[in-house]
Amino acid sequence: MNSVPKRRITCTLIMACLLALCLPGYSSPEYRAVSVLYTNDTHDHLIPFSYPEPENPKLGYAQMPFRKNIGGIARRATLVRRIRAETHGNALLMDAGDVVEGTPFGLEYDGKPDYEAMAAVGYDAAVPGNHDFRFSLAVFRAHMAMIPHVCANLVDRKTGKPELPEYRIFTIGGAKIAVFGVTVPSPEFPASKEGLDFLEPYVTAAKLVPELRKQADVVIALSHLGAGEDETLAKRAPGIDVIVGGHSHTRYATPKFVPNGGSEASSVNGTLIVQAYEHGVELGRLDLRLRKDGGRFTVMSYTGKLIPITSDIPDDPKTAKIVAKYYKPLAKTYGQVIGEATDTFFTMPAVLNLVCDSMREASGADVAIYGVGAVRGDLVKGTLRAWDVATAIPYSNKIQVLDMTGEQVKQILIRFPVKPGVSGMKYRMVGADKVECTIAGKPIDDKAVYKVATIDWLVGLYFKGYPVTKTLDITARDSIVNYIRARKTVTPDKEDRKNGS
Ligand SMILES: [Zn+2]
Repeated sequence: MNSVPKRRITCTLIMACLLALCLPGYSSPEYRAVSVLYTNDTHDHLIPFSYPEPENPKLGYAQMPFRKNIGGIARRATLVRRIRAETHGNALLMDAGDVVEGTPFGLEYDGKPDYEAMAAVGYDAAVPGNHDFRFSLAVFRAHMAMIPHVCANLVDRKTGKPELPEYRIFTIGGAKIAVFGVTVPSPEFPASKEGLDFLEPYVTAAKLVPELRKQADVVIALSHLGAGEDETLAKRAPGIDVIVGGHSHTRYATPKFVPNGGSEASSVNGTLIVQAYEHGVELGRLDLRLRKDGGRFTVMSYTGKLIPITSDIPDDPKTAKIVAKYYKPLAKTYGQVIGEATDTFFTMPAVLNLVCDSMREASGADVAIYGVGAVRGDLVKGTLRAWDVATAIPYSNKIQVLDMTGEQVKQILIRFPVKPGVSGMKYRMVGADKVECTIAGKPIDDKAVYKVATIDWLVGLYFKGYPVTKTLDITARDSIVNYIRARKTVTPDKEDRKNGS
C-alpha cells in the first residue's frame, strides 16, 4: 500500500483551506452586536413618581411590573452607563421626542433642565416631538443644539433648507448605522408659526431611505408620528430596519414586527417597531445581531425588552446634580399641600370635569369648555400638591371668556374633532353635526347669550370669529389649585358630561 504520511495529509488540508480563504468571493462571516437604547415622551419627568392603582387594565402603566417610585433621569443615566460598559460601547441612546411639557420643569424653565440632563446622560440622537415646538423659535433652536437632533421633514421657512440634520451615521465596530428623524407636522405650535415648515413625513422618508441604505448597513427611523403611523411608515418607506417611535405613548413590551413581504432590505424581512411608553419610567433596549458575509452587515436576529427604572438603581451623581439645581426652587412653591383627594381623579372624565368646573368658578361664566388632549395626568388619591396639578395640566394657558348664543355654543362643539369637556352644561352629539344640549339643567336656548369660559389656546383653534370679552389673569391650572384650596377636600365627578344632555 502506497501510504501517504498523516502529517502530510493534514498539511495539504490546511494549505487547501488557506487557499480557499484567499479565493475571490470567499470570506468567513463577521458578526457585530449593536444595542439600541431608547426613550420617548418623557415630558419633563426628571424625578421619580408613582402611578395610581390602575382603573383600566389596558393602560400602559397597568401592564408595568413596577408602578411606584419609578423613573428619574439620574437613575436612567446609571442604567445607560452600565449597559454601555456591558456592551463595550456598542450602544446608541436615542429619544423619540416630546421631551418637554409635563411638569414644572417645563413650566418654569422652558424645558432647559430636560436637555441639560439628557446631554449629561449622553444621548446620541433625538427627534423633536410636537410638544417640543411649544416655546419660541429661539428657545427651540437652543434646545435642539443641546443634544444631537435629527429630523428629515422639518425645514427653515426662510431658507427652505433642513432645520436640523436629516440623519446621522454612526460607526459601531465597523458597522454603519444610519439614524434619521421624522416628526408629526405641528404648524399650530409657537416655534413652527415663527418660521418652520413640515414636509409630508412618509414621502420624505420614502425618498431618504434608499439613499441611506447605500450609505449604511442598518437604517433606524426615529419617529414622532405615533404607533399606528409607524406601521404605515414601515410600509410606505420600505427598507427601514428599526423604527424607534413616540407620540402615542405606546408600551411595546417587546418589539412589534411588521413584515415587508420579502424585500431584501433587511435580513429579518421586515421592520421592528419599538416604543417605551412615556415619562422615562422604563428604558427600551433592542439588541441587534448583525452578520456580514461578503457585502454589508444585515440584521440577523434581535431581542428587545423594556427595563423598569426602579429605586434600586442609584442616581448618577452628575445628572442628579443638574436635576437638583433646578428642582430645589420648584420644591418650595409646587411642593405645597393644597388639599386632599378622597379618591383618584383619573384623567377621563374626572380631571377633565375638575378643570372645567374650576374655570367656570374662576370666571363666573355660565359654561366652561376644555380640550381632552390637554389633560395629561391623573390626580392620585390622598394629599394633593400644586406639583400634582401641574403634571395633570402642565400648561399655562390663560382663561378667556366669550359671549355666545346657544346656537353658537352648539356650533363650537361641532367644530371640535375630539369632543371637549364641559362644566355648567351637558351635551350629546347626534351624528356629526347635531348637538343635544342642556345648560344649568334646561335645554339650551339657541337665541340666548351665554358666558363661555375656555383657554386662549382653544380660542385660537376653534373659537375663531367670536370676540373674546375678557381675559383673566389666571391660568386654567391655577384655577384648579384655587378650587381645591377653597374646598380642602375634593371628590372626583365621574360623569361623562359629553355623552349626556
Ligand atoms: Zn407625548
